[in-house]
Amino acid sequence: MRFSQYHFVEEIKENLEKLGFKKPTDIQYKSIPSILKGEDLLAIAQTGTGKTAAFAIPVLHILHSKVNRKREDGIKCIVMVPTRELAIQIHEVFQKLGKGTRVTSFSVFGGVEQAPQIAKLEKGIDILITTPGRMFDLVSQGFIHLNRVEILVLDEADHMLDRGFIGDIRQLIRFLPRKRQTLFFSATIDDEIKDLAYSLVHNPVRIQVSPKDPVSRNVDHSVVFVAMDDKRFFLERLVQEHPDSKILVFVRTKVRCERVQAAMARVGIESIFMHGGKVQEDRLEVLNQFRRGTVKLLIATDVSARGIDIPDVDFVVNYDLPEHPENYVHRVGRTGRGMKKGLAYSFCDDAEKPLLTAIEEYIGKQVKVLALAKEGYREVVDLSADTILDLKKIVADLETPPNKRYGVKKAKKMK
Ligand code: ADP
Ligand code: MG
Repeated sequence: MRFSQYHFVEEIKENLEKLGFKKPTDIQYKSIPSILKGEDLLAIAQTGTGKTAAFAIPVLHILHSKVNRKREDGIKCIVMVPTRELAIQIHEVFQKLGKGTRVTSFSVFGGVEQAPQIAKLEKGIDILITTPGRMFDLVSQGFIHLNRVEILVLDEADHMLDRGFIGDIRQLIRFLPRKRQTLFFSATIDDEIKDLAYSLVHNPVRIQVSPKDPVSRNVDHSVVFVAMDDKRFFLERLVQEHPDSKILVFVRTKVRCERVQAAMARVGIESIFMHGGKVQEDRLEVLNQFRRGTVKLLIATDVSARGIDIPDVDFVVNYDLPEHPENYVHRVGRTGRGMKKGLAYSFCDDAEKPLLTAIEEYIGKQVKVLALAKEGYREVVDLSADTILDLKKIVADLETPPNKRYGVKKAKKMK
């Protein structure tokens, strides 16, 4: 079925055409009718399969039809997401798909100081995309009223219902009308979180696309066994062999972000990094630079693992294996989005093997091993610019006369 055959408002259809969306993806095909019927929904589909439009299209359609009639003011739909970057990205999707409709959307997140403006905007805003902490602040201070909300969407739902966020979400739900539609979307979910999600809604419909393998089928992913200290050489080699490719590298901590960047800089490779400790403007700028391709190597922590849609990332590298196995699925899912194919490599040190086992248990299969012969491995290390620089230094040292080498002053000739 093509989008042109759906009974959406004309403007939405035109916008879909402009975006080049001709046919719904599986998850869109399955969830749109259910959302239009007003059902609660738990929708699980792999990364990059168009979950955003799967809720944005029907929500826009429903709200547009209501806006046409006389209606009460107030926010009609809340979309909760874990990070600010994701709030902005999803807001953009709503804007693109909702262009020309009477539905207005807006995003708020931490770091924004215009609370009074938000109170003003409340009158004209139909859809608010937001992170839970900021949302909760605004609601508890009375800047936003949620008594007109009809639809609640939790994107990256398993993460939103996770320990870090569940408190805020529960508080928020108390402000929402009891009669509402609730939609959960994610690429991953476990049984415990599933039960929690069900406890928040009534008779939800569950839609799961490709339940057996949570990793996107567009991603060819494998593991390379590399000693911790050699990882930088392998990353360097990957960059050198693919100078025009966009590479997204995941590391465990902020400090590791900065270290890997420094290691790359030493061998003349430009990169940028992104982690939770950066101020907001920096984070957006970093992401934009990477999006535009002005810098092709981005080193990030798991703050960027979820939801971020940069369509032409060629490689994902797990420089460190993720500590939470579901993040493996999200990280490698930053490549291979939409119709594109992508490659993902995980650099696994011996000490990280238990993490690899946990990942394999989680995804229900073994990760393909890229075996490197000993010589191949040595070559990567030995041909590193860092090693070569080191060698050159040693050679230079050897060629320098000993007295210079040790800074010994020439002894005066005896008369
Ligand atoms: P997910 O949330 O499932 O990870 P996104 O909603 O971010 O995926 O969408 C991934 C990519 O697929 C986006 O770049 C989006 O523009 C594209 N996309 C979504 N729906 C369609 C469609 N029906 N046809 C073509 N491309 C689509
Ligand atoms: Mg998404």
